[in-house]
Amino acid sequence: MSVTLLSSRFLARAGDWLARHRGTLIGLQWLVVVFYASLLIIPTLLPLPDSDARILNNLTVFAQFLFWGIWWPFVLLSMVLLGRAWCGVLCPEGALSEFTSRFGLNRAMPHWLRWSGWPFVAFAGTTIYGQMVSVYQYPQAVLVVLGGSTVAAMIIGLIYARDRRAWCKYLCPVNGVFNLLSRLAPIHFRVDVDAWKNSYHSHKVIPIVCAPMVPIRNMQGNAECHMCGRCSSHRDAITLSPRSPNAEIVRVGPPKESMWQTALLLFGMLGIAIGAFQWTVSPWMVTLKQACAEWLINHDIMWPLEKSLPWYVFTNYPLHNDVFTILDGTLVVAWIVGVGALMGCVLSALLALGNGALGKWDNKRFQHLALALVPLAGCGLFLGLSATTVSLLRPEGVNLTWVQPLRFTLLAGANLWTGVLALGIVRRYAAGNGQRVLAWLSVAIACAVVDLTWWLMFGGWTVVQWGHCMPGARVC
Ligand code: SF4
Repeated sequence: MSVTLLSSRFLARAGDWLARHRGTLIGLQWLVVVFYASLLIIPTLLPLPDSDARILNNLTVFAQFLFWGIWWPFVLLSMVLLGRAWCGVLCPEGALSEFTSRFGLNRAMPHWLRWSGWPFVAFAGTTIYGQMVSVYQYPQAVLVVLGGSTVAAMIIGLIYARDRRAWCKYLCPVNGVFNLLSRLAPIHFRVDVDAWKNSYHSHKVIPIVCAPMVPIRNMQGNAECHMCGRCSSHRDAITLSPRSPNAEIVRVGPPKESMWQTALLLFGMLGIAIGAFQWTVSPWMVTLKQACAEWLINHDIMWPLEKSLPWYVFTNYPLHNDVFTILDGTLVVAWIVGVGALMGCVLSALLALGNGALGKWDNKRFQHLALALVPLAGCGLFLGLSATTVSLLRPEGVNLTWVQPLRFTLLAGANLWTGVLALGIVRRYAAGNGQRVLAWLSVAIACAVVDLTWWLMFGGWTVVQWGHCMPGARVC
């Protein structure tokens, strides 16, 4: 029996197992809810850790390491390996939203809730606000950002759509990111359209509830599916199956009206997120701050340099010598928004050139070319979040000499993957080799721009300008 056949059978059984063991999965979800709530709440009741606190002797640092060092980077990685199984099987926020929806008002979902711009706005808003309050460092900030999101998820569940996950489908801040990354997964719930049609005649069908409201019959990939397994073997037409990790991006391409999704990719994941990860180590940020401070002093405007705001607006922990003045906080926001806008515009311009090389302007083709950058964007998020992992492991005395080569190896792999996807996409549109090469080159140059930002963060800036770090720098 071939390996492919074996893996197909194993996956089909795994999908059916998920369908048959809802009770076990719900029990698991409640365990994760309890664990998540403890990590969110208990550290806020303890004093802030001092400089001697370590992962193994301080619960706050332990929670910080688990949330930002392990949980988030590996949830992102799981999207690329298993699709959105995290969402459907373990996510505490989704589980709570679905749970509250069972007892709620079951109202119809209004138009504003279904707005396609939410994934971008929610991701950008959470990322920027997280940096304003230093979410990676302080338990109160974690409680406001993550706890606030969980409470909002429960309220949405209480108001709209019984037994569904309206929050996850429309408002979750990472929904758009997961939607994009899960398209790279080598497994999916495959729909056999003929078997589905035959099922109308052959036997009685037990209806199933798809919590994230995926139109299952027409499902073509992982983007919307939470891999909960409830529909496995439904109408003898749905099977968890292996596939090429390139298939969904190259063959299915972007859904209709996905301009916001492209904005999330180019301006959000490859823009705002890069700005958020890198401002603390950028010497250009220091130069900008010095220039602004000098200008303010010369004009005798002192309050932005002297005043601070409460910790839930801008970081404010005087006992830990970590206070953003109004100037600091404003510059952090301006820097992140500025990097997001600059990266988004540069990448869009390059992809527009590639689109132009393939013929008359076509929105869908532009969005399709942008999708080639998903591996690089995902790798960037992983590298940015794992920078926190590294900075938390450093004081523990862990040998980290392998980290830098691993980072550049991952980046090289992501570039290669993007290159292969771009080749598959341009082949679908190009009339000749000339068009093909030009369009592919536009994606390759976009990759080089993104690589440059990571090179700067992981060593380049120390070459460009040795020794400068912003006050409060996290990964220097
Ligand atoms: S289509 Fe819906 S029910 Fe089926 S696995 Fe995906 S999320 Fe679950």
